[in-house]
Amino acid sequence: MSGRASRVRLRLLETSDLHMFVHDYDYYQDRQDNTVGLAKVATLIAAARAEAANTLLFDNGDIIQGNPLGDYMALSGHLSAARGHPMIRAMNRLGYDAATIGNHEFNYGLEFLDAVLGGAAFPFVCANIETAAGASFLPPTTVLERDLVDEDGTVHRLRIGVIGLVTPQIMIWDKARLEGRITAGDIVDAAARHVPALRQGCDLVLALCHAGISDAPRRGGEENAALHLAAVPGIDAIFAGHAHRVFPGPDYAALAGVDCARGTLGGVPAVMPGFWGSHLGMIDLMLERDAAPAAAMSAWRVADFHVEVRPIYRRAGRDALPLAAADPAVLADVTPEHQATLRWMEQPVGRSTVPINTFFSLLGNDAALTLVNDAQAWYARPLLAATGHADLPLLSAASPFKAGGAGPDSFVDIPAGPLDMKDMANLYMFANTICALKVSGIELHEWLERSCAVFNQIDPADPSPQELAAPRAASYLFDTIAGLTYEIDLSQPARYDRDGVLVRPDARRIVALAHQGRAVLPQDSFIVVTNNYRADGGGAFPGTGGGHLVLQAPDLNRDVIVRYVMQHPEVTPVPAPIWRFRLLGRQVTLAFNGTAETERHLSRQPGVTRLGDGTGGFIRYGLRLG
Ligand code: MN
Ligand code: MG
Repeated sequence: MSGRASRVRLRLLETSDLHMFVHDYDYYQDRQDNTVGLAKVATLIAAARAEAANTLLFDNGDIIQGNPLGDYMALSGHLSAARGHPMIRAMNRLGYDAATIGNHEFNYGLEFLDAVLGGAAFPFVCANIETAAGASFLPPTTVLERDLVDEDGTVHRLRIGVIGLVTPQIMIWDKARLEGRITAGDIVDAAARHVPALRQGCDLVLALCHAGISDAPRRGGEENAALHLAAVPGIDAIFAGHAHRVFPGPDYAALAGVDCARGTLGGVPAVMPGFWGSHLGMIDLMLERDAAPAAAMSAWRVADFHVEVRPIYRRAGRDALPLAAADPAVLADVTPEHQATLRWMEQPVGRSTVPINTFFSLLGNDAALTLVNDAQAWYARPLLAATGHADLPLLSAASPFKAGGAGPDSFVDIPAGPLDMKDMANLYMFANTICALKVSGIELHEWLERSCAVFNQIDPADPSPQELAAPRAASYLFDTIAGLTYEIDLSQPARYDRDGVLVRPDARRIVALAHQGRAVLPQDSFIVVTNNYRADGGGAFPGTGGGHLVLQAPDLNRDVIVRYVMQHPEVTPVPAPIWRFRLLGRQVTLAFNGTAETERHLSRQPGVTRLGDGTGGFIRYGLRLG
């Protein structure tokens, strides 16, 4: 070997936020799903390994929670030391080299987490969590010694340092389980403490960072610290996650210091592979070392790199077309627990003393919304203590997702009695997460006006049935805000159109808006719990958007409803008297669509009678107002 440099190509693979999706299966819809599953990623992993002489595989956390399989395994008696946890079993099979933990690893408590991680054949690292006694909760770093083949076929032993980091907000989100037992520190500070020593003894330093990407100015304790982490000297590549986004890609295009085409954060190669197994993350490093024999000490440097994410499916209209088959061996490993979960999902998780249906959602009588709002407020109240807004009145907003808009089958119709997991999916079909917003009285008023865009204007002088809403009205844009009382005056035109544009500044449908019997004043402040869709501006509601956010919780609204139902012996979501239509002086009939089943519930909705058959399988009903 003369003066020629050695060149080693090293391919680094990442999964993140798998959330218990091993099977390509949607547990709530109870059907195969092309958009999820480690079994599908396994096929991409095999292909990526076949293309490269040297590969390492990492996971970035949020593995043990997030679907019914995770809940099933966490129930007492379902995790055995002999069989181990199915997620870890699948990961052992795939030969992971190292992993870090995500915030959701703490959702089932520390004892369960210890038992799960005990079965791993690879190291878990995390540098920013300590026990109450001041010891590191997990090893902060690990050093992987790997024999890598260079371009000439020569083998070089490299020392690859790996540090793990997790968003410190676990202390807020799982406070009840963690307080007094562990503490979580700042991601960047922890890296700054550990990376220099790791750098000293290693040829390469990799950061597994269970955090997303944000360019908000550094204040310390950031949840999404992956970009700030890049400023710590000595890190060769960053594996991000937690935000359930894809990087490189357009999601972070507007951020300073982020190269969305090349895939760098502050110049450091970085990747984020979506969520639930949607993508495999890949960073190819070209490592070079000069031939000078004296330079034996850690002279490898990153000469070039390539960052890529490979999806398991592609969208074609409404379809998700598979780009990877599920690996049958990975499926088979986990199938016993998968099947047991499907059986378990048919068991009751709780019970309701009243029927829960959405036949009268647009009349203000909706037990489903009552249950959603009860659960959202129950969950958010303790979390708001950490935001400094616990003293403000807490309200909860929810809209009916299934109120007949997609046809006569698209109503919630759950009888009184046991509630199972499929009922929960029926109640809340979207994978939204809980958010809370700080909203002024005037914004609250506008929020409700925008909600009322769903209704037609009613002529008080016309005694014949008048259509309450458009035939396929987007009921998910009709928010009811629990904690308030108000009336809706349908004789007025809508102040907002159906896209949320203020079209009639003189029109007002919301009247008598009050909180605990007192009129809401423009300058009042409230906290409104909702979902990330609405909070991020979905439906263009006044009072929403980034500037209003005070809480971005990690949990799905649906999971919160499940927990709420599980933790109460029974629930009684009687529709609260939040709002009603203002009487218009003359009697009018508001016509709306229902089904044959609607008729069984007429005793719960005074003033409604059957008008006759409708089109498309609907039956027409009318509410007499006045
Ligand atoms: Mn996650
Ligand atoms: Mg996370």
